[in-house]
Amino acid sequence: MTQWQTESNEWADRHRRSLTTRHTYEDVLTDREFELLVEACSELPEPRRFQARFICLIAGRLGLRAGEIAHFDTNWLDWDRKLVRIPKSEPCACGYCHRQAAQEASHNETLSVQDALASRWHPKTIASARAIPFDLSLRVELCIERFSDRYSSFPHSRTTVNRRVQEAAEQAALSGRVYPHCLRATAASYHAYKGVAPVPLQALMGWSDLATAQKYIRISGTATADAVRQVHY
Ligand SMILES: [Zn+2]
Repeated sequence: MTQWQTESNEWADRHRRSLTTRHTYEDVLTDREFELLVEACSELPEPRRFQARFICLIAGRLGLRAGEIAHFDTNWLDWDRKLVRIPKSEPCACGYCHRQAAQEASHNETLSVQDALASRWHPKTIASARAIPFDLSLRVELCIERFSDRYSSFPHSRTTVNRRVQEAAEQAALSGRVYPHCLRATAASYHAYKGVAPVPLQALMGWSDLATAQKYIRISGTATADAVRQVHY
């Protein structure tokens, strides 16, 4: 094979991959789909009804990850400033944290499972420790108040977080895939569309990389439209 053919094949492979890889932002729900999902939660029996609503709202509007929701603790709530503070770590020994600790230790000879477990639970990255305002809408604020009336921490595992979203999506008869991470992407897209700038959007979502925020802002088109209109009007 000539060098030209090799390069051409590599390019073709990359191009094919870019066409076939699914990105989470492709699964972002429209405002209407999101409202239908929240509405459908109320048709589930308690306590699944409340749990599904809580998950959909804090994932789909505040952008929490499934792991963050499963480890959600009311200690994270700063009522004076109306913030959810995702900590750097939270003591936990759930099945998920055990499995993650075992995996970390197996990749690192100097780390024992016990030591790995000592820092569990922790969010995905350092940037994920963040403060998220929850008074963006009364609906979200009230849902967080109701949660703290009922629970001191999320009462189930991460698997349950996935299951509740699935149940709500089935109840809403939404076409397309609905899962916790696409709700997080829906939150990112919602804030980008409202005009949140790249740096605060990055901080809100806890991304390590500013480029991710810029991608959501570019896709939303709001900043582009505003800048173009400013020139023309
Ligand atoms: Zn855990």
